[in-house]
Order: sequence, then C-alpha cells, then structure tokens
Amino acid sequence: MGAGVLNTYPDLLPVTSATPIITMGEGDTPLVRSNRLGRELGCTELYFKLEGCNPTGSFKDRGMVMAIAKALEEGTKAIMCASTGNTSASAAAFGAYCDIPTFVLIPKGEVAMGKLAQAMIYGAKVIMINGNFDAALGMVREFTQRNDVTLVNSVNPHRIEGQKTAAFEIVDKLGGAPDMLFIPVGNAGNITAYWKGFREYQDLGRSQALPRMMGFQAEGAAPIVRGEPVARPQTIASAIRIGNPATWNGAIEARDGSGGVIDAVSDDEILEAYRLLANKEGIFCEPASAASFAGLMKMHRQGMDLSDKRIVCICTGNGLKDPDLAVSSSGGQTIEVPANIEALEAVTIGSES
Ligand SMILES: *Cc1c(COP(=O)(O)O)cnc(C)c1O
Repeated sequence: MGAGVLNTYPDLLPVTSATPIITMGEGDTPLVRSNRLGRELGCTELYFKLEGCNPTGSFKDRGMVMAIAKALEEGTKAIMCASTGNTSASAAAFGAYCDIPTFVLIPKGEVAMGKLAQAMIYGAKVIMINGNFDAALGMVREFTQRNDVTLVNSVNPHRIEGQKTAAFEIVDKLGGAPDMLFIPVGNAGNITAYWKGFREYQDLGRSQALPRMMGFQAEGAAPIVRGEPVARPQTIASAIRIGNPATWNGAIEARDGSGGVIDAVSDDEILEAYRLLANKEGIFCEPASAASFAGLMKMHRQGMDLSDKRIVCICTGNGLKDPDLAVSSSGGQTIEVPANIEALEAVTIGSES
C-alpha cells in the first residue's frame, strides 16, 4: 500500500532505531495469475510477479532503498554503482530523493536508452566506460575501497536484504511458497536474495515448503551454466549481459539447496517469451525479464510436467525502458489511412470479409 519495504518488514531487515525509514513506494508489486499462457503449458497455477511496477521500473528499488537507508545511517557522502542500466536508474532516483551525490558507471553503448534517460534526468553523474559491466564493477569496487563513497551494487549486502522482501510478498499473497520460482540470472544477486527470503520465512514458520529455484541465464552470457567466466558476454538481454557474476556462489547455493537448476536460454527463446508475455498476457517486460518465462517454456518443451504445480515467474523490469526493441521485434506494421470512416472500415472490419 505504498508503505515501502522498510515499513512493511522492519523486523526482518537490518533496520535499527538509527535507520531512516525512507520509501519511494517500492515493493508490494502485483502477483498476477496467468490467463492464457499457463493453460497453454498445462500449468495449473501460473503467476507473474510484476517487478516493473516498482518506482523506477525494476526490482532494483527493493535493494536500493535498504542500501541507501544504511548509507544514510552511516553518514555517507556519495554513492556509486556499476550498472547495465537498472541499478543506475534506481541509485540515481534514491540519490535524488535523499539528496546524495550519485555516480554511475555504465558500459558504453550497452545500456537501453530508457535506463540511461532515467539516470540522467534524476541527476546522477553518468560515466561511460569503454569496457563491459564486469570491468565497470571491478572499477567501482576498487574506487569505493580507496575513497569515502558507498558502493550500492548487489555486492553491498544490504541490497540482498532489501531484495529478499519479494519472496516474503509471494508467500504472504499465496499463503505458502510456490513449487517453483523462475527467475533471470545476471549478477546473481536476485536469485540469492529470493532464496534467502524463502528460507527465512520457512524458519519463521510462515511457509512449510521451499520452492525449486529455476534460474536462467542468456546463452551468450551463461558463466554459471558453463562453469567458468565468459570474457565477452553477448545477449540482447542487456540486464543479464554479465560474464562473471559477483554472487556466483549464492546462485549455486540456491540451485543446490532447492533441487533447482541454472540453465541457459537463447536470445531467440528470450524474444519469443518477450512477445508472448506481451501479446498473450498484456505484460510488457524487458527482454532480460522474459528469460524466466523462456526458461519455463524450455522446461515444458523438455517434458517437465507442470500440472498441479504452482509456479511463479519473476518479471524483473519494465519493457518501456527499451521501446525501440519492442517496435522492431513486434513484427507488427502500422497501417496508414486517409482521415475518413470508409477507409477505416476497409482496413478493419472490411479486411475480415
Ligand atoms: C538486474 C536485473 C536482472 C538480473 O538480476 P541479478 O541480480 O543481476 O541476477 C534481471 N532483469 C532485470 C530487469 C534487471 O534489472
């Protein structure tokens, strides 16, 4: 109800009497039941968690609010992150909200326009790196060790704490954990956070079971699947174009502790899922987000029985961040007609007969 994650789950977060309770309205995102795609896959109960409904359009806000609150508590002078786009958008927004100078490092030419636009209009100092995300993350780690600036990437443990609240919300809404959770994996902070959240809720007795954690990387950026870093990660899904995930171990623990999988999906599979989510469910997410549903389709194709399963797919970010991709991959052409009713009828009901 717009209360924010710190207000909603203070006892389960590193919130002390000295922690400022800030919020931009993050969290409490919709968990929408599938109307069409679940039926097509023979899945009894399929849900999509719409993390694109967060204030800056991705789940990053959940972790950022916690990281910023702790940074304020510690008297930070400035914050810094490396980003494929969404972390910088979130950091820049909270930096603006809390009046903290914000530096964001982004790999040149690899960030969707909408995300770059966000960081710029929120007023962050945007620094382009002639290198990829992994190189940028290495730089901010070293910089923040040498200087009095707070690192707000997900290697900051407060980010993981905030992000685990999404798992709490799922259990709170469903009355228990799902059987399986499908989630995109990039730097692997989010899958780590969900797994932590589900385990904490089980320890508290708020859920009986744990979900199988089903993580999906993009085929050209699948270091965890391959078992070694990828020097030049390639994928259309820029938010998961990461060759050396910072929380690699967390993803392995989530997989092995839950009997889950970390697998890869191709760009074609990601784009197919991206289009299907939009034109069969009305969900416009970004391509990286569609890796979760692409993973579910892959499991279905491989023969996994989804009947009697309660499944949640995480839609991590909002499709509006990259409208050009939506236009170019929709294949739909627009129609031009003169401004009269006969012409309109000719291209609509007229074309059906
Ligand atoms: C950051 C991000 C991811 C990847 O999350 P990790 O925690 O890096 O694994 C996936 N989708 C979107 C939209 C993101 O912004």
